[in-house]
Amino acid sequence: MKIFNSLTMTKQDFVPIEPGKVSMYVCGPTVYNLIHIGNARPMIVFDTFRRYLEHRGWEVNYVSNFTDVDDKIIKAANEEGVSAEEIASRYIEECRKDMAAMNIRPATTHPQATLEIDGMIDMIGKLIEEGHAYEKNGTVYFSTRSYRDYGELSHKNLDDLRSGFRDLKVSGEEEKEDPLDFVLWKPKKEGEPSWKSPWSDGRPGWHIECSVMAKRYLGDTIDIHAGGEDLIFPHHENEIAQSTCANGVPFAHYWMHNAFLNINNKKMSKSLGNFFTVRDISKKYDLQVLRLFMLSAHYRSPLNFSEDLMEAAKASLERIRTAAERLRDIAGDAKADVTVLNGDDRKTAEEAAEFVRKFDEKMDDDANTADALSVVFDLVKFANVNVADGAPGELAAEVLRILLELGDVLGLILLQGKTDLDAEIEALIAERQAARKNRDFATADRIRDELKERGIELLDTREGVKWKKI
Ligand code: AMP
Ligand code: ZN
Repeated sequence: MKIFNSLTMTKQDFVPIEPGKVSMYVCGPTVYNLIHIGNARPMIVFDTFRRYLEHRGWEVNYVSNFTDVDDKIIKAANEEGVSAEEIASRYIEECRKDMAAMNIRPATTHPQATLEIDGMIDMIGKLIEEGHAYEKNGTVYFSTRSYRDYGELSHKNLDDLRSGFRDLKVSGEEEKEDPLDFVLWKPKKEGEPSWKSPWSDGRPGWHIECSVMAKRYLGDTIDIHAGGEDLIFPHHENEIAQSTCANGVPFAHYWMHNAFLNINNKKMSKSLGNFFTVRDISKKYDLQVLRLFMLSAHYRSPLNFSEDLMEAAKASLERIRTAAERLRDIAGDAKADVTVLNGDDRKTAEEAAEFVRKFDEKMDDDANTADALSVVFDLVKFANVNVADGAPGELAAEVLRILLELGDVLGLILLQGKTDLDAEIEALIAERQAARKNRDFATADRIRDELKERGIELLDTREGVKWKKI
């Protein structure tokens, strides 16, 4: 599999540090209002990439943070007359809802910056000790000149940057030893959340948060670090400098950056006010349409949001779903089983399996979801032509299995709507859970036996009770 690595600016073979395992960190949103559809782009594309890695058999440790202390959060809190904590926890909740509605799987861990302050103080202390950071009047700065490779990710000309920064000097920053030095810790201002530290009562800078959370949950060197391309400089450049200097080993082997989602060919951003929230879009569209729209472009290409493209995505999704439903109807109760098929039917099933290989080939090429989606459409066409209404159920079930598998890698839910039977089983499971909670084990056992008689096996998982047909 090849990934375009922003660090080397080339497509490289992906080789994880530990065979079979992938560690991945994706910079998450700053939680001061509802997420907009621009924020949804990295969430969707990297969730899809994670699903693909898992589809290929890799075990993925996927970490994505919430930035829950920041000037914008404090400003929103002051405007509403509530605490910064209240704003952050409210919008973390809302963000989780939006993610679920977009079928974005929760990360293995979603760390929050404010719960990791000790780690930040440790890392800053280490950087000072080793001459990579210095304190002035309670503020700690990272010394960019102390890291020889500073600028390696953004490929920027540092001298140009330095002179640019000198012209644009911001008041209060005169104490920096170099214009490119950046804040690791800053003293609190009146009314701001703060934590005790050896340098001042204050709070961490944004960049150190990600370095510390990546280290804590993934280790000193990680496989993949990802985020929007606006984060390359300074955020990711600074993360590399901090982590490499503090840990003494390379930080991330591969850097993936998504291009921006634009609106009317202009950058969509909260500060420009030209954005739609995911919640706005959900009022008009099934968010699966938004998901398909995002995946219809390569993640490194800018994507322009428009009503027309959303309508096209809606029609595309319907086309795939109609095919899936037709296959389900033909399949009836039959299970996907190639061994019972003969002659042409067997050949059709084998040809259908080829679509998985083609799909993987596209995804192996730097997660080309646009081309992978085309393979899904080709499969739909193939199914419509080759699995006729009277075809064997096992064949339809097999082609459906393949279609659902590819849909699942893209996070697309193709068969919608619970049957009455599903709803009934779920109601019984809920009843059994309630009985167990009330220590009414006789009722709980009776329900379990009843389900068993109907061929339903219950599985206790970390996500709750799941069920399957046996
Ligand atoms: P923020 O909340 O601004 O820190 O952004 C969270 C994530 O969303 C980062 O990875 C950003 O790069 C990304 N992002 C923000 N705006 C857009 C946009 N218009 N298109 C694509 N990604 C974006
Ligand atoms: Zn980050």
